[in-house]
Amino acid sequence: MSDRTELSDFGEFKLIDHLTQNIQHVQESTTKGVGDDAAVIDRGDHFEVVTTDMLVEGIHFDMSYTPLKHLGYKSIAVNVSDVCAMNATPTHVTVSIAISNRFSVEALEEVYEGMLLACKAYGVDLVGGDTTSSLSGLVINVTAIGSVAKEAITYRSGAKENDLICVSGDLGAAYIGLQILEREKQIWKENPDIQPDLEGHDYVLERFLKPEARLDIIKTLKENSIVPTSMIDVSDGLGSEILHICKHSNCGAKVYEEKLPIDATVANQSAAFKLEPSVCAMNGGEDYELLFTIKQEDFEKVNTLPEIHVIGHIAEPIEKAALVYPRGEEIFIKAQGWSHFGK
Ligand code: ADP
Ligand code: MG
Repeated sequence: MSDRTELSDFGEFKLIDHLTQNIQHVQESTTKGVGDDAAVIDRGDHFEVVTTDMLVEGIHFDMSYTPLKHLGYKSIAVNVSDVCAMNATPTHVTVSIAISNRFSVEALEEVYEGMLLACKAYGVDLVGGDTTSSLSGLVINVTAIGSVAKEAITYRSGAKENDLICVSGDLGAAYIGLQILEREKQIWKENPDIQPDLEGHDYVLERFLKPEARLDIIKTLKENSIVPTSMIDVSDGLGSEILHICKHSNCGAKVYEEKLPIDATVANQSAAFKLEPSVCAMNGGEDYELLFTIKQEDFEKVNTLPEIHVIGHIAEPIEKAALVYPRGEEIFIKAQGWSHFGK
């Protein structure tokens, strides 16, 4: 009898490590393979970055509350976000879709309308893809390409002790948006006559359904001559991303709870779900903000920039990654992002 290992024994990150452990590169141009937000290819006078992300019906989106146009927009935005996380500018995307016959031509037109809107917003060209059928539901896979000056590339691995930890925008809103959509779905399932109550929740719903990649932050950093020492986008939750930076940069981190940027609507709504706002910020996913570290000497420059918040600093490896509360209490940060194969 052959051995069989269940996917649930692995989890997403361990599975990726396992499957990619024997990869060997033969191209001299391959500068960075698996392990960052995008692969990095040496194109002589600049680096090219390549990344791919898949959205699967029932796993990443629920057709009962996801507008198709938003879904198309999001599928491009999440890939552009990974390009931005390398400090690169996106240039091209390809789009592959698998569709069941549950979808009409009109439905797919809406998906593409959203995709093209995003392509226009981020200045990228849609240059190809693949179309196939699926037995169950819709799958969208996007690959994005970008470019960056060699001296401006940022990896997850460059953070140094005493660097300042920064995050763009605000955190936790997408998670609250998802909770509201799930709550209204349950209510509707129990009584289809009740209309969903989504009023007053525009901000958090949009953050979940139609996130923006922070290409504007990449431009702002460039305009102000700031090259982060490390960077990652916040897709799985701030805590998980801090741990990625610490692992790849071999460092610890102190993040100050009171410094976490949290929108007032998130602070207000989190109580309805019996959650601390900071827990939404640390463990909620899908914010698609940028988490990065800068040298202390860049503090004055960053401090004047809107929508960039200094939330902590890099520490010695022995200190691990900790969330520091106002009274000085510290708790270690644990990854609690999405776990597709968890038990
Ligand atoms: P992100 O959240 O930034 O999209 P992931 O956590 O999905 O990154 O992936 C982490 C790294 O592992 C990336 O460098 C990605 O390219 C790589 N990766 C993920 N899945 C696979 C796979 N099946 N085969 C090869 N590389 C993979
Ligand atoms: Mg990423």
